[in-house]
Amino acid sequence: MEERCTQNGTGTLESVPTPLPSITDVSDEALARWLAGHGEPPYRARQIRHGVARSAAADWGGLTDLPLALRSTLAASFRWSSVELETEVASADGETRKALLRLHDGHHVETVLMPHHGKRDSVCISSQVGCPMACAFCATGEMGWIRDLTAGEIVDQVRFWQRELRSGDARVSHVDYMGMGEPLRNYGPVMASVRMLMDAETFGISPRRITISTCGIVPKMDALAAEGLPIDLAVSLHAADDATRARIMPVDRKWGVDALLAACARYVERTKRRLSVEYILLAGVNDSAEHAERLGRKIAAHGRTSLYHVNLIPVNRGPGAFERPSPQRMERFAAILERHGIATTTRISKGQDIAAGCGQLKVAEGRAAALASCG
Ligand code: SAH
Repeated sequence: MEERCTQNGTGTLESVPTPLPSITDVSDEALARWLAGHGEPPYRARQIRHGVARSAAADWGGLTDLPLALRSTLAASFRWSSVELETEVASADGETRKALLRLHDGHHVETVLMPHHGKRDSVCISSQVGCPMACAFCATGEMGWIRDLTAGEIVDQVRFWQRELRSGDARVSHVDYMGMGEPLRNYGPVMASVRMLMDAETFGISPRRITISTCGIVPKMDALAAEGLPIDLAVSLHAADDATRARIMPVDRKWGVDALLAACARYVERTKRRLSVEYILLAGVNDSAEHAERLGRKIAAHGRTSLYHVNLIPVNRGPGAFERPSPQRMERFAAILERHGIATTTRISKGQDIAAGCGQLKVAEGRAAALASCG
């Protein structure tokens, strides 16, 4: 096995084994070659992929469809999962759970399970360790970008919850790319993970139940539209004028509101999917009647209003000391949008007592235990 040198806590060099590749990061070609090299028939590939996606087992030993000897050889060549549970916390709401997962290089990501009264089980997954976008209100943005996740690391967050749910016989039904990171800044691995999740023979999650949320990377929104997949897109707008938006979202200096809404219109036109506009309400920043009127007018100017749905999100506790507007102000904002013919919901994030709400995911790198005291 290959070894590399690293520095241990005492400052001396020691060698640690390079980790085995995780099975979800092994390409079909590489798996086919591996099987051939081990004298296994090609159909084993499908059995392995199916077992990896569907089994509630904690390791290779649980894939009882496969011969024992093959399970041991697989275990010696590939890791069963690229994520390991570090800590898990449950919200007092009795449903929402947040897990801190450790990656092979010691970095961590957070992922959230949001069951909805036994009807659906949504998971919110991370696409990067940290995030480069630096939105003023977002805890992940405060960390900065540390690294991109691989497709396997993204998919393995879904497998993690699948395993946890299986004990109660439930399955992950919806996947939201709304955890840590900007998914369209890690486009290739994110798309590879989407294709794995929607593969009918393995995870079988309908693309209509997969949502990618972006702060507005316009060229990648067009690339996503060109994929021709009916994935839902959520766009974090948060202000309909560039003066306000650039103050809270640095990305606006690159792609302003008009360029972003034009890309939204192209996405909707191409995919025929309804698009969610996410709008965090920040008291005194973007919550006036004028802001609401402008949002209504801008959306109307960029296509049919019936194709947009605005989610108003009272800001969660995070950086920047932003406050939520009063309920009356939030109601007035929603009423103005509705007068413009735009469907609106006001969404209070779940799991805020465990800092699992939107924009609250932040890992104290290297101090994972700190998670337990979050919220
Ligand atoms: N980078 C992607 C996805 C991650 S954030 C994006 O920007 O869309 C998921 C959602 O949470 C986004 O709409 C984001 O703007 C929102 N969010 C971030 N910080 C928040 C906060 N403090 N309160 C409420 N929502 C927040």
